Amino acid sequence: MATKITKARQNGEARADELLSKYNPQQAPVPIREIAISEGCLVNGLVLDDDLSGMAFVRNGQSVIIFNSAHHPNRQRFTIAHELAHHTMHKSMMLEGVHVDKGILRRDISSSMGVDDREVEANAFAATLLMPKSLIIRYANTSIDMENEQVVAQLAKIFGVSSAAFTNRLLNLSLN
Ligand SMILES: [Zn+2]
Repeated sequence: MATKITKARQNGEARADELLSKYNPQQAPVPIREIAISEGCLVNGLVLDDDLSGMAFVRNGQSVIIFNSAHHPNRQRFTIAHELAHHTMHKSMMLEGVHVDKGILRRDISSSMGVDDREVEANAFAATLLMPKSLIIRYANTSIDMENEQVVAQLAKIFGVSSAAFTNRLLNLSLN
């Protein structure tokens, strides 16, 4: 199970790294909405029920990303990146119909039991795309004291992600 999850995470990271070399963002926050649009997606915010993060589907050949515009902007960014992963990596899933994402998307990075591999891939893709290693190094200058909540919160703000997402990313980077 652990290796299967690790593999899924690596797949997501690798695909995001390909996009990062293509767009080569020079500063944070990464323009995720613009990247999704450049990748051919129609990106729209809608006020959805609070337990819905977003959706990905293809309609008349058009890739569509819907995100919950009632959520915090950081979460909207993560949702857009997650749904972009489905369009980029999971073409067959997109053919099955509307893919709906519920709850907090990144939850399964740490607790992976019983989670669809594709969700792990999409979350790893999103985390990598929103928090590129090269940019983290540039902004942090020196090694980051992960115990220092203020430092983590400040960097998370620069990247337009939650402190929890940023901490997760740092943990994953140190494992790689
Ligand atoms: Zn999903």
